[in-house]
Amino acid sequence: MDPKVIEGLKSIVGPNYVISDPEGVKPYLLDETSKNICPEPFLDVVVVKPKNTEEVSKVMKFAYNNEIPVVPRGGGTGLAGGVVPIKPSIILSLERIKEKIEVDKGNLTMTCDAGVTLGEILEHLEKNIEDLWFPLHPGDEGATIGGLAACNAGGARAVKYGVMRNYVAGMTVVLPTGEVLRLGGKMVKNVTGYNLMHLLIGSEGTLGIITEVTFRLRPKPWGTYTLVVPYEDPNKAIETVPPILRSGVIPLAIEYIEKEGIEAGEKATGEKWPVKEGQAFLMIVLEGMSEEELLSMSEKVAEICQGHGATDIFLADTRRQQERILKIRSLIYEGLKDETVEILDVGVPIASIAEFVNESRKIGEKYGMKIVQYGHAGDGNVHQHPLKTGFKEEEWREFYPDLKKEIFALARRLGGTLTAEHGIGLIKREDLLSYLSEEEIRLMKGIKSLFDPKNLLNPGKVVVL
Ligand SMILES: Cc1cc2nc3c(=O)[nH]c(=O)nc-3n(C[C@H](O)[C@H](O)[C@H](O)COP(=O)(O)OP(=O)(O)OC[C@H]3O[C@@H](n4cnc5c(N)ncnc54)[C@H](O)[C@@H]3O)c2cc1C
Repeated sequence: MDPKVIEGLKSIVGPNYVISDPEGVKPYLLDETSKNICPEPFLDVVVVKPKNTEEVSKVMKFAYNNEIPVVPRGGGTGLAGGVVPIKPSIILSLERIKEKIEVDKGNLTMTCDAGVTLGEILEHLEKNIEDLWFPLHPGDEGATIGGLAACNAGGARAVKYGVMRNYVAGMTVVLPTGEVLRLGGKMVKNVTGYNLMHLLIGSEGTLGIITEVTFRLRPKPWGTYTLVVPYEDPNKAIETVPPILRSGVIPLAIEYIEKEGIEAGEKATGEKWPVKEGQAFLMIVLEGMSEEELLSMSEKVAEICQGHGATDIFLADTRRQQERILKIRSLIYEGLKDETVEILDVGVPIASIAEFVNESRKIGEKYGMKIVQYGHAGDGNVHQHPLKTGFKEEEWREFYPDLKKEIFALARRLGGTLTAEHGIGLIKREDLLSYLSEEEIRLMKGIKSLFDPKNLLNPGKVVVL
């Protein structure tokens, strides 16, 4: 990196907050995307860590005037290579922008600096606020609120509460030119012109840098119960999801998990799943305002599951039991990581989820590749881990692109989308270009060039190279 650039950045944020040596920048080059499919990062980079919106604005003005690409980086938990530099770049880490963490009880909102992590938000609410909570759990707890908004993250609780887009009420954004915008606020309704804030949500760091987010909170429930429901026939498990959703009970989460997923979660945690038999499971989390309400919901859901082929019902009502189950579910990703080619997160309409899971299994069988499927069945977003176990690298690399194309074609046929929550980032740009219509691409490129006329903000991600 040009020494003048390094010196220019040091003059803005101070010498301690600029990293330019190759060892020091290494932890900033990648995210959690599988290395099997993520292109190698460009190494000619400098990391800058501004402390507030004003410093971000100065860094952006400097980059704009000197025509240097900028890659925004939050917690680095993304699964689409969104933080991976593909040109000589300034990596702008938001890790120091985390002073503000404020709850406004009157408006049921919380306002946080962009670098505050999901874990810190949950801890703050747990310790300080008795009656309100943030009902989403939209990612790894190391993800930042800026990253969650930038990715429009979803998570298991979308069944009942939706995704980040439904929660973000306001934000502060720095544009590629260095201009600062305050979008939205704490109001509930707002139709004053085109909604620029909603363009920023899900823009994956390509339109502006989010430095502060105001988001909604909800009344805290009395408690939760978790049902673990085994099935011998995986199709029956997944076919139970729409009847549950039609029953009038809206669970906090309905997760579908195949046996291999449970085994991977057990391996990663050292914990034991509470039910022994079963080829596939539903994990259904219910929340209620009283014990009676939870019991009545549990009975209703259990009845539906039994009527659709469940072989047993396990009810976890203590916090400890539920945490153990959730831990196994959360660490399936860790347990499968080494054998996984990549994580696919296709989303389909709820009525098609059984067909999607079933047909995907057949696609895997056709190529001789095991695809472990688990995740957010309640909102049509079952994740897929195609495993490379038993193949030489050159073997799976040869057929895998065709297998993936077949899965995406299946999603399209079922009226679905190629990514429901992990985003396009660097790794799905080509897929997006062939998935959307020419007109959609033209409009998206037009929006990008309006916000970022020199294409300096996170180049190569989403729609523009
Ligand atoms: C174990 C695990 C579980 C996960 N579970 C889920 C899940 O259930 N649901 C889900 O949706 N995702 C999930 N994720 C993915 C990930 O947690 C989310 O995508 C999250 O939103 C990324 O936040 P981050 O702060 O880590 O962003 P990063 O990885 O740092 O960045 C992601 C993208 O956002 C941009 N960005 C980051 N911060 C900003 C900012 N302040 N302003 C502008 N752009 C910014 C980056 O440039 C990049 O393009 C999971 C990941 C892991 C590893």
